[in-house]
Amino acid sequence: MTPDGKCPTPVGINTRLAHIGYEPSGYFGFVNPPVVHASTVLFPDAQTMAKRDQKYIYGTHGTPTTEALCRAIDTLEGSAGTVLVPSGQAAVALPMLAFLSVGDHALITDSVYAPTRQFADLVLSRMGVEVEYYAPRIGAGIKRLLRSNTKVVFTESPASNTFEVQDIPVIARAAHAGNAVVMMDNTWATPLFFRPLEHGVDISIHAATKYPGGHADLLLGTVSANAATLPRLWEMFLALGIPAAPDDTYQVLRGLRTMGVRLAHHQKSALEIASWLEHQPGIARVLHPGLSSHPDHAIWKRDFFGASGVFSIVLAGGSQAHAFLDALKIFGLGFSWGSYSSLAMQVDLADRTVAAGDFEGPLIRLQIGLEDIEDLKQDLARGLRAARCTGQPGADQSVL
Ligand SMILES: *Cc1c(COP(=O)(O)O)cnc(C)c1O
Repeated sequence: MTPDGKCPTPVGINTRLAHIGYEPSGYFGFVNPPVVHASTVLFPDAQTMAKRDQKYIYGTHGTPTTEALCRAIDTLEGSAGTVLVPSGQAAVALPMLAFLSVGDHALITDSVYAPTRQFADLVLSRMGVEVEYYAPRIGAGIKRLLRSNTKVVFTESPASNTFEVQDIPVIARAAHAGNAVVMMDNTWATPLFFRPLEHGVDISIHAATKYPGGHADLLLGTVSANAATLPRLWEMFLALGIPAAPDDTYQVLRGLRTMGVRLAHHQKSALEIASWLEHQPGIARVLHPGLSSHPDHAIWKRDFFGASGVFSIVLAGGSQAHAFLDALKIFGLGFSWGSYSSLAMQVDLADRTVAAGDFEGPLIRLQIGLEDIEDLKQDLARGLRAARCTGQPGADQSVL
């Protein structure tokens, strides 16, 4: 199989993940690519230098290491090109800076990753871009919000923390009718479970910090563009000077090789735990799009190939969220997700404007890691017991 994933017969995703991006015969047969640390690249003569007529010209433009990861991601995303930046947050900021100018209007889902909203409110508004938030379940209703100066429609599906699934094909069609560029933060699904460009998205964004990295030991972002949007993205990437570092790039390529088997395990454990939680005392609701009880389950089933390991639970009214979290012994309390170990955190939706939701009790986000399912269930049961034993005076315990 060639590094762009082409093969005489179709092969499975894990076969592709094992081989895409890099051809060992191109580097003395070594199975993995070299980690190239580089600023300067030498040219053989003045004319080649003047014309920049060679494959690599400077560290910020790419190296054999970044090329291997970019080609692998392009194969997975079906994109014309990918750029690598030092964090997922930078991967969100870069395309918005590339496509928005003073006087433009941007539509961003209200359920967006909170630091994306902070970037929009702080930087875009200071640039003179009008930012408007829309409800994640808007679907075709987005037409009513599009204006002649709407240049970007920013989507994220499922929603950060609350897991509404967006109707991406419908939103993308409406946005394109108005000539807006459609961007999607696809971190939750990874390109294994959702392929944005096949559903009309122009630019697909990932925090490779999460499942591609997979070990909570690095930060990296990827931005993958179709042919129409790539030149403008590339120009801003060079102008900002934010290439990802070589060691992190290498580690993400290394992570991709096992991402399929890791995700299969995350998916299975998370679904089993989510359906078990639906029947546990002290739980009001489980927000996981892979459950048939989820209001957007049909859209998820239509568009996605699977579910990763992150979802939320709504504790029953009157539950003590801190007691729940403090009782956990295996789940760690920490931000981020996509790594091998399980994490829990309480979600704060105070920054939402049109989709804050109406929840019966505290909202807790769970990242299901690679630990054994029975151990994780016992840990969660311990948390749920604690959440309902330590009610403060006056707290409503009746539903428990
Ligand atoms: C974590 C995350 C990011 C940011 O990634 P970092 O590498 O932590 O900056 C962006 N979008 C989503 C949906 C995320 O979960």
